[in-house]
Amino acid sequence: MTIIATWEMSYDGVKAAREVIRKGASCEDALEALINYIELNEDFHNVGHSGWPNEDGVVELDAAMINGDNLEYGAVAGLRNIKTPISVARLLVGSEYNNFLVGEGAYRFAMEHGFKHENLLTKPARDRWLERVMKEDYGVKGHDTVGTVISMNGRVVAATSTSGLFMKKMGRVGDSPLVGPGLYADSDVGGATATGVGEDIIKGTLSFKIVELMRLGVDVKEACHKAVKGLHDTMIKKGETPREFSVVALDKDGNWGAASNRDEFPFVILEDDEVKFMISKDWGRSFEERVSAFEK
Ligand code: ASP
Repeated sequence: MTIIATWEMSYDGVKAAREVIRKGASCEDALEALINYIELNEDFHNVGHSGWPNEDGVVELDAAMINGDNLEYGAVAGLRNIKTPISVARLLVGSEYNNFLVGEGAYRFAMEHGFKHENLLTKPARDRWLERVMKEDYGVKGHDTVGTVISMNGRVVAATSTSGLFMKKMGRVGDSPLVGPGLYADSDVGGATATGVGEDIIKGTLSFKIVELMRLGVDVKEACHKAVKGLHDTMIKKGETPREFSVVALDKDGNWGAASNRDEFPFVILEDDEVKFMISKDWGRSFEERVSAFEK
């Protein structure tokens, strides 16, 4: 069994997933536990409760899950007042229709399924938003996504959750809830997920691209490298300036890869029952293990 997840904020979430797996949890239970841990942690401002708001000061959340056994998925976008959007997305996995709900519809579905209406804008996030509004600084800055893939007992499942870009326009949706760019999984091949500027990730359908490269026999590390470097180079060739994007992936046997157009991209893996904080460098060509700040 292997789990891979984006950013150092996933460190304790991956430990939470390990705990539930020890008690016999499914792939979906494990990823939900991992992401819920981050969504509910008020110190993390890019995911779930206490996420950064849009330019109107409203927290709008995106999340998705895909089951690689049958490609069934569930997704929500622009969801307000619900602390754990991944749990709502998970409930939509396997629906015959209506797998992807946005805004008011996603909120109504959540309320009908027993979720609680809560204020998601915490004081630090509100203060930071007010500071920006006072300066009339509406530029988009600050974002991350927890994106995670698990390979266990012949199954591959991927999931994401994010508050998107800080100071985004109301209703803006990035790659994270989109099956294809933000996440993809096929239990016969592997799974992948992305983080970074969604507007660019969508241009390269990054997660699907990685899985399709693996389907053609490309090794998982090379598939991550090729997808990220390929999109970056293509954009430059077309006269565009790529912004940041990064990916993590697993093949069906639990081998992992991670790549980024940043100098260093932090991610977390669980393998052989051990949680490791890793850095991807050189476009996913080299890796370094470090001690996480969350290690006590
Ligand atoms: N991909 C997310 C979005 O565009 C943000 C991030 O992962 O940094 O909404």
